[in-house]
Amino acid sequence: MLFMLAIISLLSDQVFLTPVQNNALFQYINDHQSEYIQRLKNWVAIESDSSDPSKRDQVQLMMEMTKDYILKMGGHVEMAEIGEQEYSPGIKLPLPPVILAQIGNDTNKPTVCFYGHMDVQPAKKEDGWKTEPYTLVEENGNLFGRGTSDDKGQILALLHGVESLKKIGLPVNVKFVIEGMEEVGSQGLEKLVEDKKNTFFSDVDYIVVTDTPWLSKKPGITYGARGNCYFYLEVEGARRDLHSGGFGGTVYEAMSDLIYLLGQLADVKGKILIPGIYDDVLPLTEQEKELYKNLEFNLDDLKADTGAKQFLHDTKEEILMYRWRYPSLSIHGIEGAFSGSGTKTVIPAKVIAKFSIRQVPNMNPSVVEKQVTDYLESKFSERKSPNKIKVTMVIGAQPWLANMNDPLYVAAQKAVKKVFNTDADMIRAGGTIPIAKSFEEILGKTVMLLGIGGPEDAPHGQNEKISKHNYIEGTKLYGSFLQEIANAWP
Ligand code: MN
Ligand code: MN
Repeated sequence: MLFMLAIISLLSDQVFLTPVQNNALFQYINDHQSEYIQRLKNWVAIESDSSDPSKRDQVQLMMEMTKDYILKMGGHVEMAEIGEQEYSPGIKLPLPPVILAQIGNDTNKPTVCFYGHMDVQPAKKEDGWKTEPYTLVEENGNLFGRGTSDDKGQILALLHGVESLKKIGLPVNVKFVIEGMEEVGSQGLEKLVEDKKNTFFSDVDYIVVTDTPWLSKKPGITYGARGNCYFYLEVEGARRDLHSGGFGGTVYEAMSDLIYLLGQLADVKGKILIPGIYDDVLPLTEQEKELYKNLEFNLDDLKADTGAKQFLHDTKEEILMYRWRYPSLSIHGIEGAFSGSGTKTVIPAKVIAKFSIRQVPNMNPSVVEKQVTDYLESKFSERKSPNKIKVTMVIGAQPWLANMNDPLYVAAQKAVKKVFNTDADMIRAGGTIPIAKSFEEILGKTVMLLGIGGPEDAPHGQNEKISKHNYIEGTKLYGSFLQEIANAWP
């Protein structure tokens, strides 16, 4: 009988250990919801718009408030100075310090380092907001206000998750890198990470970026992003702008050459015509193909949202693959071309087209640069125009792709399952996330993007919001994720 009881208690320990832990965590978070929303309200009220020099003191204040809160949680905080910003020639502004914080330093535990930002995009009521952008308003289960989704709400959910976990026993060491200049290009951050590689970052095992949306209402974990090779194509014809009455029919026109060349870049279905451009694209594996099947993504919603009658591809899978794992080419504009209203009979002397290629693993920007330049030069020489062309690649941001079988990803998937009772969507970003690639390259650690933004949060637009569900359940997600990371630690 005793023997039986011993077995039962042993079994029950094993079966119930994790749920009991989580009930305590979830219960604690549920009990503190209104406090979490109040804190978001206080943080949203700070106009930490990093693009506006007159608001720089607000960004500084926001960094101080964040520091104070981490100190209150029992953390250690360093405010790392990163110098000044040359805002415009002769005008220098102080860059807000970057928070480098730590909670726990047990060498037997893994150390997870989170990244996020406290600055926001500009917002004014007259831009078309229904409510005051810097006043948090709760309506129909949503929390409206600038920064609720990008990124104050996500960082607060993380901090609250860690704080809750601390009450029942923090099973990991946690570090935070929180900056105040993300919305204007993270100036000084990459250098700071390099400088601190052997100090602050030396014991970091994993990097998690807390600044991303999901693809749908289903939680998403982001494991890749496309890069960007941005080109200028310049055609120079006459010494000055000419009148078409006097010179139309006389000169080789720069604009005609440019339009011809732009027309050679891709076909009507978006296929890039530059030889070799697809050579280094990673082949699609069966395992990867499977992932796309379960993604929740509605093409009709996308049509309604964009107003597009038809897309380049017919299925959800193809649309997402061409957004995430294949390169694309877009033409953005022409500098020097007449673009005003009305009629003007000018022949522009010099025009510069702007186009970019979103490139993917394992494409290399310097190879792309050569392929594009060689192709345009050969197409131009076939045309036998006496004008001059110049191809320049002005941005060469690399793509990023993580190994989603890494324990970091497995832990996040388990946490999603536990909190939301569904499998996570494994997603990528069609745009570029330079910080993910920088962290990976400089520190050599696995990087993951685990955010809690919803697909309709409008992070840079009017009426930015986060749903209360995402905010509160997201808090549980961060707490559970850290428990799972600890469970997987050898
Ligand atoms: Mn952001
Ligand atoms: Mn943003």
